[in-house]
Amino acid sequence: MRTLSLPAGGEMPVLGLGTWRMGEAAGRRAAEVAAVREAIAMGYRLIDTAEMYGEGGAETVLGQALAEALRAGDVRREALFIVSKVYPHNASRRGTPEACERSLKRLGLDTIDLYLLHWRGSHPLRETVDAMQALVAKGRIARWGVSNFDIDDMQELVPLIGSGPGCAANQVYLSLAERGPEFSLLPWLRERGMPLMAYSPIDQGALASDDALQALAAQLGMSAAQLALTVVLARPGVAAIPKAVRSAHLQENLAAADLKLDAATLAELDRLHPPPRRKAPLAMI
Ligand code: NDP
Repeated sequence: MRTLSLPAGGEMPVLGLGTWRMGEAAGRRAAEVAAVREAIAMGYRLIDTAEMYGEGGAETVLGQALAEALRAGDVRREALFIVSKVYPHNASRRGTPEACERSLKRLGLDTIDLYLLHWRGSHPLRETVDAMQALVAKGRIARWGVSNFDIDDMQELVPLIGSGPGCAANQVYLSLAERGPEFSLLPWLRERGMPLMAYSPIDQGALASDDALQALAAQLGMSAAQLALTVVLARPGVAAIPKAVRSAHLQENLAAADLKLDAATLAELDRLHPPPRRKAPLAMI
């Protein structure tokens, strides 16, 4: 799979698996663990989670799936790229490492490959950045980044980085239905070689059943969800982390990483979902 270079070193696959809504119900746990294992067996290497999802439940599901996959030899730890996030209310100088240790324990890992501040909260950014950099120095995380940061947040962040490890990525809401970041945030990140991780790229499933998208996708021999993913991945510097549990969805989404769109299709998509004409506040789910 194509990868994106990270400013802090290393590479990140352009397509990964989201885990929001996993780990919320005991009755669904076995199916979710099986889905993550299946995803790994299919070739997913980037997996996104957060302490927020199921209040640790999603990390626990992921931890169980990772333990089983590693034990079975389905994948090597070094080949995986595991992303988790700290709650803003935990992102203080002391709270960040404590939250990280809890996440590591649930995940059953020694290191998180990318650890993000989930969104801005009331703790000073200075404290969060210091805590993130200290976690990198200790080897508990390989790199750190942010989520739901608009340009003004990024501009505030940059001077705080100093000579320590920098911000590796910004994870934001980007889909055909929410193209706001394309106006100025994405170009800003691109200029700095910082990937944008697109969350809810299928608009929480809604784009998969969009009539116009389905009609266009059928002409191209793909599904509407694949079309929605392919257009997000067509933007340079963008990775996407669709969530799926159903096997057919996992397969379709993974295959989308290798699909290409011609200029006429991109123009038709612009007609159906016009690009932003001005800066609007960053949308959040
Ligand atoms: P997505 O846009 O990824 O949509 C997920 C939904 O779409 C699920 O209901 C899934 O069904 C369905 N789906 C997936 N693939 C297909 C397909 N090929 N055809 C039809 N339906 C499909 O929404 P999410 O909000 O989950 O976003 C993805 C991930 O991004 C999250 O899981 C999370 O990891 C991250 N995220 C981060 C946020 C942040 O603040 N940083 C905020 C929101 C999300 P099923 O599960 O039944 O297969």
